[in-house]
Amino acid sequence: MVLYSGHLIAAMQEYDQTLDEIGVILHSDVSTSVTRLNELELSFDKLSPAQQGRFLTFKGITFIYNAHYREALINFNQAEWLVKDTYLLASLYSYKATAYIATRDFEQALAMMAKSLALIVRIEDVDIKRSAYLRLANLYSGLEANDAVALYATKAIELADADDVKDICTAKLYLAVSSLELRSLDSAFSDFENTLSYCKQNGLSLIANMALKGLGWVKLREGDFPLSRNLLLKALTGYEAFNFQLEISHVHALLAQNYLATGEDAEAKIHAERVITQPEDPSSIEHKQLAYRVLSELAARQGAFEQAYEYSLQDQHYSKLLFDEKKMKALAYQSSKFNVDEKEREINLLNRERELYMAMQRVKERERTNMLMLVTILIGGVIFLAILFIAGMLQKRKYKRMASLDSLTGILNRGAGQELAENLFVQTLAKGGSFSVILFDLDHFKRINDSFGHGTGDWALKKVVEILRSRIRSCDVFSRVGGEEFGIFLPSASEAQALEVAQLCREKIAAINTQHSGHEFSLTASFGVSSMGDSDLSLDPLLHRADLALYAAKSQGRNLVVAYSAALEPDKGSNARQSKLSLSPS
Ligand code: GH3
Ligand code: MG
Ligand code: MG
Repeated sequence: MVLYSGHLIAAMQEYDQTLDEIGVILHSDVSTSVTRLNELELSFDKLSPAQQGRFLTFKGITFIYNAHYREALINFNQAEWLVKDTYLLASLYSYKATAYIATRDFEQALAMMAKSLALIVRIEDVDIKRSAYLRLANLYSGLEANDAVALYATKAIELADADDVKDICTAKLYLAVSSLELRSLDSAFSDFENTLSYCKQNGLSLIANMALKGLGWVKLREGDFPLSRNLLLKALTGYEAFNFQLEISHVHALLAQNYLATGEDAEAKIHAERVITQPEDPSSIEHKQLAYRVLSELAARQGAFEQAYEYSLQDQHYSKLLFDEKKMKALAYQSSKFNVDEKEREINLLNRERELYMAMQRVKERERTNMLMLVTILIGGVIFLAILFIAGMLQKRKYKRMASLDSLTGILNRGAGQELAENLFVQTLAKGGSFSVILFDLDHFKRINDSFGHGTGDWALKKVVEILRSRIRSCDVFSRVGGEEFGIFLPSASEAQALEVAQLCREKIAAINTQHSGHEFSLTASFGVSSMGDSDLSLDPLLHRADLALYAAKSQGRNLVVAYSAALEPDKGSNARQSKLSLSPS
């Protein structure tokens, strides 16, 4: 056992005090924190392991504030071995997640967030727990995982007292932003309104301003341009007072779209140009892509096709960056969810094993003689567990193999899309809820190829995907079924909602300006929609019905959306169209 002298103990207490002081100023005065940490580093060897852990964590945080993420991770990795305090460890994991998100390593970020969550659950102090959930909501919002954002923001609100206004206001904003993707525009609007009035009442004007932007954003999506403009201009004035560059550039991008839609070209141009002059930054990719798209349309409108082409190249460049990033986030999030599911299954297996063992004990006590029965239970249980385990492994391998993308359009290919959709379908089946399928096929596509060449055909396929991708919710699956046929799988969407989505897609395709391809032609598509019925136990019947509806849309004149109805079923003798997706041999 080590005996400390009085002197040593005093020194230890002094180090704790210094660390406490640094902890207080860490988030408000980074440069003083760095200076004080550098002073303390001279005595690093004399610190206790717990103090060293705190020191390294603080040092990592200063690196994050200075955007040196790799150095931050080096410090956090060392700290992780030394920190024992649950709260410090939970926040260490979320800082690691922040650094991983900044370095675009989304899988590691999600792994850290899972570790942090496991600790948060154990924290008893309600205030600390609430702020930890909010931090988690913030990290998930960086990964655009809206269902998780909503989940943790809700947990934070549940743990808040009426006077925790800042946390409540922040959580409300997260909920509103997530409902923009998860729920209808109407509910997003009322969530933003609610956030605005709550945060304003409590003097939290920056967050109130963000809610104001949210309102303008919803109205823009709804096509109510005058009201949207009014709200966005107000939000812009608010952000300018805070000099919040990132938000300012987003509002300019939204305003540019707004003015473009109403034909006020000069105004649209001014706002778009404000966005493209911003410095390069991962968080501004989306704004720049929007701005270049507006500029390209403006130039095309004025007949400056060469200029329009230049801008459209920029638009495509940023679209690709954005798409790659979204794809990486989505795949990382899906696979992290899958891992969590698998862990749960393992735990269930262990529980089942324990139950089996207990059952065995009871049987033993009651009927010592009935050995045969015991052996049967044991063998049966082991075989059952083995089958479950193997099925889990096979599913995981299959999932990984199928996760591949269509090389022309970049969306999921038929195999991967269907695999993912089938998983979602089974989940819906287990939970209850609706599920819809949209199939669509471009009209007279062969004519486009024949008249203008394969390159123009490819251009049209890419353009259609690019136009629709941004309009499809992140929880839906969009895949290329084959040739010029596509599928959209919508979990928790009713037939009416799916029809609405299909109509919107149909209009967007018909509105594509094909002049950008160098030729002018008509580009439309026909849509078939079907929804889950009580007797559907797999995706196949839905695909088959959507396909019949698509076929009807073709024969009724094309550029139409048709919902499946029993009347579309072919007579027994007639020759129904064979879908590429239909699995059953005819
Ligand atoms: P309908 O309105 O009945 O669907 O008529 P369609 O001409 O679109 O249908 P059809 O099935 O006769 O033709 C589809 C064409 O799509 C034939 C094929 O050459 C073309 N196609 C399939 N994949 C690609 C591709 O990747 N690029 C290009 N450019 N063409 C493709
Ligand atoms: Mg076709
Ligand atoms: Mg076809």
